[in-house]
Amino acid sequence: MVIYHLSTECYPIAKVGGLADVVGALPKYQNKIKGINAKVVMPWYNKPFVYDHEFELVFDGFIHQGSNMLQVQVMKEKSDVLGFELYMVKIPGLLDRDNPYGYQDESFQFLAFQQGILHWMCAMEIKPDILHCHDYHTGLVAFMVKNCPEFQFLKDVKTVGTIHNGEYQGMMSWNMANYMPAFDSYKWGLMDWNGMMNPLASMIKCADAFTTVSEGYLEELFISFRGLESLVRQEFGKAYGIINGIDTEVWNPATDPMLDFNFNSENAVAQKKKNKEKLCKEYGLKPNLPLFAFIGRFATEKGADLLPDVVWKSIKQSYGALNIMILGSGNTYIENKLKEYDYTYTNFAVDLGYKEHLSHKIYASADFLLMPSRVEPCGLNQMYSMRYGTIPVVRYTGGLKDTVEDISTGGAGLNFTYAGVDDIVHAMNRALGIYNQKKMMEDLIHANMNFDFSWEKSAEKYIALYKN
Ligand code: ADP
Repeated sequence: MVIYHLSTECYPIAKVGGLADVVGALPKYQNKIKGINAKVVMPWYNKPFVYDHEFELVFDGFIHQGSNMLQVQVMKEKSDVLGFELYMVKIPGLLDRDNPYGYQDESFQFLAFQQGILHWMCAMEIKPDILHCHDYHTGLVAFMVKNCPEFQFLKDVKTVGTIHNGEYQGMMSWNMANYMPAFDSYKWGLMDWNGMMNPLASMIKCADAFTTVSEGYLEELFISFRGLESLVRQEFGKAYGIINGIDTEVWNPATDPMLDFNFNSENAVAQKKKNKEKLCKEYGLKPNLPLFAFIGRFATEKGADLLPDVVWKSIKQSYGALNIMILGSGNTYIENKLKEYDYTYTNFAVDLGYKEHLSHKIYASADFLLMPSRVEPCGLNQMYSMRYGTIPVVRYTGGLKDTVEDISTGGAGLNFTYAGVDDIVHAMNRALGIYNQKKMMEDLIHANMNFDFSWEKSAEKYIALYKN
């Protein structure tokens, strides 16, 4: 069975969040299953990976976007170094950029990406069994293969769409229809939602099946999905919740080259302490106190707007008996407020930016990882932290609900219900109580490290779905 994963992100080439981790790992694990050949197609980016690896040109052609003629080149990474065939689509001016997102003309960018992929496949007569589309950036592929005469060759190819984050739907004005490849115009309703072109809605309508990255998140979409609630209820018959795994080869505390002190579950307590001491020294924190960490985008869906108040309140309430370290970036108000607190409190440090190495060090050093998410489709941070012996303190929502059980019911993490400062600080107080009980803390470190979040099970679930 041949599967093409279509995505704008893929670790380690271009990563903004969890999407990259999933697309960098899932095909690798699928390829370990007999009879499966999974590949990845993504845009070309000016990233170190493309200069450090050799590529060959496998296709050179043209597409039309409105009255513009765009050159499309498809480059294949020669050595399959990532454990799957990697194809990168290059379109000068649109798909040869530094980063995946943040451009004014992103609607043109993603339309060209989708059209370029399908044009290449038709021209080269590549007919996969499954086109697996990830998030709204490739949300119109299912519509295009079924309703654009130009892609008639792919008409009977099955499509699966995965919603990694339903907060982003790629809505655009109907003027953009002029830049679509020609389609059966009476089918326009399959792209429409509330008078706008909505690629994510179109994916739900047109894909043969769609998935969310946890079961908990799928349930939540029925009641809160930025306007698509009724649609997801209507299309429920082809919806599946499949929890993400983690790449246990990349995220292995025993071999992770980004850590100062590697460890396994036997020497975790001592080695984590050394990692923590080093990190605390670097950031002026106090290694003898418990260390809470947050890693992520400063967005309201992550509850990041609550962090400044959580910092001052938890430090005040505990009379300075804890450390907090935050790594992330995003909303400028939050960034500035946290920077201000970094100067005010000796128990608090923030590092602004996207820093892969530092994130690994924090997972290995912290005692507790905070995730006050309002919305969390799956969440990978909690799984990484658990693998690195760090106890997750999470809001009971989406994928966090599916992966972190509270110690009060036999789990190895801490849950709280509301995304509010008081609830978070209360959960932190519970964590402090645990921290002071040495044996319990050690047991929890071991219990967390022993959870199995590897991709094998979920990779099998996707294959079963494709076969279905
Ligand atoms: P998202 O909604 O952002 O995709 P996930 O929990 O699914 O959230 O995945 C987040 C991924 O991005 C994790 O691998 C996490 O370690 C990483 N990450 C987030 N912010 C940063 C940062 N500032 N520096 C390094 N890694 C980060």
